[in-house]
Amino acid sequence: MFCNQCEQTAHGTGCTARGVCGKNEDVQSLQETLLYGLKGMAAYAHHARRLGKTDEGVNAFIEEALFATVTNVNFDIESLLEMVLECGRQNLRVMELLDEGLVERYGDPSPTAVREGTAAGPGILITGHDMLDLENLLRACQGTDVKVYTHGEMLPAHMYPELRKRIMNSENSLETAVRLAIAGNIIDLGVKTSIRESDIEGVIRDCLTADFDSLAVKAFGDAVNQAERILYLADNAGEIVLDRLLIEQLPIERVTVAVKGAPVINDATMEDALLAGLPRIVEVIDNGSDAPGTILESCSQTFRGRFEDADLIIAKGQGNYETLSDLDKNIFFILKAKCPVIAVDLGCEVGEMILRKSRAFSDIGDLVKEAE
Ligand code: SF4
Repeated sequence: MFCNQCEQTAHGTGCTARGVCGKNEDVQSLQETLLYGLKGMAAYAHHARRLGKTDEGVNAFIEEALFATVTNVNFDIESLLEMVLECGRQNLRVMELLDEGLVERYGDPSPTAVREGTAAGPGILITGHDMLDLENLLRACQGTDVKVYTHGEMLPAHMYPELRKRIMNSENSLETAVRLAIAGNIIDLGVKTSIRESDIEGVIRDCLTADFDSLAVKAFGDAVNQAERILYLADNAGEIVLDRLLIEQLPIERVTVAVKGAPVINDATMEDALLAGLPRIVEVIDNGSDAPGTILESCSQTFRGRFEDADLIIAKGQGNYETLSDLDKNIFFILKAKCPVIAVDLGCEVGEMILRKSRAFSDIGDLVKEAE
């Protein structure tokens, strides 16, 4: 246990064995989880409020939950646990408010042509996904020679209609969608420092023509058809647009997409899912964690339950492979091998496109085939 939530904290640094106030590690952990949940929820609720969307139920819950932690007298595990679960439920309502606010003000998300590169003269670089901030900045710069630059994570969005057409016109739409999802895995600004639309076009061309394991695609298609609850673990912010192309090829009524609970490197969060329009076609949840990959111990109880319940997990990216490849679970990994260590583990070359069933389930499948 470590708690430094108040000024009574032991030795002025932190209560470790037990709280000076009397709380134990479970209470401390639940209160901490609640505070982190509230912090994230309040940030999104603030975005929604600025777009004119509020909900009295959400506001009342934030006050009640803060009261429960700030007063530090409620050490009842059951009621704290219920409050943590309610925080998750209220957070979904907050995401609905944010979505409504964004769509009312800016319309449904749709791909738009953008200019790339830089131009001579002063400029302001704005990051993040606060559309209202971006709008205000653009208005403030109107009529001046100040250029406004933003990040390129959403560049794939501009190619979405064209790529969708390619999938629809291809012989094997599932395979084309998997190839494009893998292409998205290369658009990783956690690895590269910059990327241009022309780079992405080249990557997509290569991924559409490279050798690929058609047996793995067949096994993947069979697994998708048989699964009743599919959990799709998204990876990076920009590539989530290309993930959407693959998700559209799945039985969407049986698919849940999971994003990160809080920003880490350039991983996709709920805001990225909203910008890609995912909540309009499938259920989207967050994993309650801000760790790269999927470290189940750091994920929320709700997410772990969904992970456990899923009979097929589709895990995008190398981070998810690194953290989940040893699990005894029906997982298909979709990635591009980006480093020698992972390439050796996968038994492939660096840069190879991978669609791979988890080891444990490959073995079971092979045994069943042998028995037949
Ligand atoms: S809230 Fe309790 S456990 Fe936490 S620092 Fe204060 S006295 Fe210690």
